[in-house]
Amino acid sequence: MTLPRQRIAILGGGPGGYEAALVAAQLGADVTVVDSDGLGGACVLTDCVPSKSLIETSNAMTLLNRSAELGIASGALATVNAARLYERITNLAHAQSRDIAARVDAEGIRVIREHGRLAAPGKVETAGGEIIKADAILIATGAMPRVLPGAEPDGERILTWRQLYDLTEVPRDLIVVGSGVTGAEFACAYQALGSRVTLVSSRDRVLPQEDEDAANLIEDVFKRGGMAVLGHSRAQSVSKSPDGVTVTLADGRAVHGSHCLMTVGMIPRTEDIGCDEAGVTMDKNGFIEVDRVSRTSVPGVYAAGDCTGVLMLASVAAMQGRIAMWHTLGEAVHPIRLGHVAATIFTNPEIATVGVSQRAVDAGEVVARTLKQPLATNPRAKMAGFRDGFVKLFTSPGTGVILGGVVVAPRASELILSVSVAMEQRLTAEDLAQTFAVYPSLSGSVTEAARKLMEFTPDTP
Ligand SMILES: Cc1cc2nc3c(=O)[nH]c(=O)nc-3n(C[C@H](O)[C@H](O)[C@H](O)COP(=O)(O)OP(=O)(O)OC[C@H]3O[C@@H](n4cnc5c(N)ncnc54)[C@H](O)[C@@H]3O)c2cc1C
Repeated sequence: MTLPRQRIAILGGGPGGYEAALVAAQLGADVTVVDSDGLGGACVLTDCVPSKSLIETSNAMTLLNRSAELGIASGALATVNAARLYERITNLAHAQSRDIAARVDAEGIRVIREHGRLAAPGKVETAGGEIIKADAILIATGAMPRVLPGAEPDGERILTWRQLYDLTEVPRDLIVVGSGVTGAEFACAYQALGSRVTLVSSRDRVLPQEDEDAANLIEDVFKRGGMAVLGHSRAQSVSKSPDGVTVTLADGRAVHGSHCLMTVGMIPRTEDIGCDEAGVTMDKNGFIEVDRVSRTSVPGVYAAGDCTGVLMLASVAAMQGRIAMWHTLGEAVHPIRLGHVAATIFTNPEIATVGVSQRAVDAGEVVARTLKQPLATNPRAKMAGFRDGFVKLFTSPGTGVILGGVVVAPRASELILSVSVAMEQRLTAEDLAQTFAVYPSLSGSVTEAARKLMEFTPDTP
C-alpha cells in the first residue's frame, strides 16, 4: 500500500524553518515554506552571520594592532575601510541566503516569498490569499529587536544591530545599551575596530547570565582596552543631539556619543499570525509554548526557534525544527536536550560553555567538582601572546564523569567540542586526561585540566 505524501507547511525560512524543510523533503514529504524576508532568516541576513563576519574583521584588527609585540615592524595602526567592511558583510549574508535557497530548491521544496499566517489548524494563508493545506504546520517566525519606549531607533544615530550595516562609517563614540551577549559582542568588536565604546549595563557586571569568572575576565579585558563600562546604569531614554546622541540614565546622568546601539532583548514575531485564533498557547511575552518535541497546544501545529523563546540560538532553532519533522513524519525522535547545548559568546577572547553551569553548582542544584586551568601557563598561548583565558571543567564527584565546562580563549567556539563530546559520551576526567592533545596547543589545557581533576577522582570499576 502506498500512503499519500504528507503535506508540510512552514511559516518562516530561518534555521528553524529551512532545516525542518530539508529534513521533511528528504523524508518524502510535500513541503511548502512561506517566508517574507529571505531564506536563512534573520540569522543569515541580519543577526548571526553579519555579526560574526564583523567580528572576524575586528579580530583581524586586534591581531594587526598587536603586530609590533609579535616582532613585526609595521607602520601606522591599521584602520577600517567602513564602506568595504559593510559591503563585504552584506554580500556575504546575501550569498549565504542564496546558497540556502539553491539547496532548498534542489530538494523540490516550494518557497512562497510572502508574509503568511496560520488560517486554522491544517491551513496556512499567504498575504496574496493563497491557502496551503497541510497535514502538519511548523511556525518558525523568529523574533525581532525589542524597542525601549523613549529610545526608538532612527537607523542613523540610534540603531538596532540590524541597522549597523547601512552605516557609512565606524561610529566614533559608540554607546552600547545592554550588556547581554549581543551587547558584549558588538561592544568588543567596535572597540577593536577603533570606536570609543561606552557599555551601559543595568546590572552589576557585563554578561550577567553567564559564568561569573568568564564575565569578570571579559569585563577586565574591555576596561583594559579603554572601554567605559557603566554598571548599575539603566538607560531611560535616548535622544539625538546636534552632534550625536545622548543617553539619559535612570539616575539622571547623561552619556554622550556619536551613535547608540540598542541591545535590550528580543520579542517574538507571533503577533497577527493567527496563533490566538487557532488556540496556540503563548506565554505572557508572546512566545509560543512547546514541548520537547516542538509540539504546540494544537495538534498538528509545531513551533521552532526564536518564536518559542527556548534558548535563542540558531543551532537550537534548527534542532527544534528537525525534531518537529521527525516527530510528525513518524521517525524515531529524541526530545531536545537543552542541557547539552554548546554556546559561544564571540567576544575576544571567546567564551564557550556546555553542560552544567557554575551558578547551578554554587546554588547546590548540581553536585560537581570544578577545576579552573588558566590559559596563561599554556605554551601555545604564550607563543601567540594570549594571557586572558581559562578552561574550567565540571565533573561528577563520584564517578569523574564530565558534566560540562567553560572555555575562555581565542576560538573557544572550536575548543569546546572536546568537552561536548566528553559530556555526550559520558567520558570521565581520566578518559579525557589520557587522550592525546597536540603539543603545543590550546586544547592541551583541556587535557591538563582533566589530569588535575583526576587527583580528586576515585578509581571507577
Ligand atoms: C546579533 C545576533 C547574533 C547572533 N549570533 C548567533 C550565533 O553566533 N550563534 C547562534 O547559534 N545564534 C546566534 N544568534 C541567534 C540566532 O540568530 C537565532 O537564534 C536564529 O535566527 C533563530 O532562527 P529562527 O528560524 O527561529 O528565526 P529567524 O532566523 O528570525 O527566521 C525567521 C524567518 O521567518 C520569517 N517570518 C517571520 N514572520 C513571518 C510571517 N508571518 N510570514 C512569513 N515569514 C515570516 C522572517 O522573515 C525570517 O526569514 C544571534 C542573534 C543575534 C540577534
